[in-house]
Amino acid sequence: MRATKNDANIPWYTAEEWNQVFLFIKRVDDLYGQKLVIVYKTADQIRQRFEKISGSIEKVCSNTCIYCEDICCIRATIWFDFKDLLYIYFGLNKFPTFQIIKNSSGNRERACCHFAEKGCMLSRLERPFVCTWYFCPEQNIYITLHYQKMMQNFEQILMEIKDLRNKMEEEFIRISCPNL
Ligand code: SF4
Ligand code: SF4
Repeated sequence: MRATKNDANIPWYTAEEWNQVFLFIKRVDDLYGQKLVIVYKTADQIRQRFEKISGSIEKVCSNTCIYCEDICCIRATIWFDFKDLLYIYFGLNKFPTFQIIKNSSGNRERACCHFAEKGCMLSRLERPFVCTWYFCPEQNIYITLHYQKMMQNFEQILMEIKDLRNKMEEEFIRISCPNL
């Protein structure tokens, strides 16, 4: 593993930066625990929505990704953003061990460090939101052909998650930085 210019743009890339962002969130939690109820509640609502669509998305992936020749987990550069971290901390009572990076293996193209032969090693609940938000063109065609109704359901729930993520972050900032 080595950092490239591209990696340098990823937030909290080093172990020290990662530790700092974790300590910041934890400190706010320790200081304002009672006031953060709304943040905990919103993160839990996000978790429930991920659970609702997880099985259906896996079904779509199992009918598309296995035939894919341009795998997005290799092509794209993905990382946890601040909303992902708040959700994982307050909704799952966890914190990822490190920021997502790209691994290189021999001459192969660099892939997301959580990507393995059978796909993503993270549970859907613990992935960055963008990994669930994104449907590639092949998947859109598949859903349109087979599950038009499901697509409407995905869109609605993903919009709800997006709104809840914004609300969770706004509340966290309002409580942790009362003078802003
Ligand atoms: S989501 Fe689309 S681009 Fe990504 S691996 Fe699956 S089929 Fe390929
Ligand atoms: S976290 Fe998982 S789904 Fe997201 S890019 Fe990495 S391997 Fe793919």
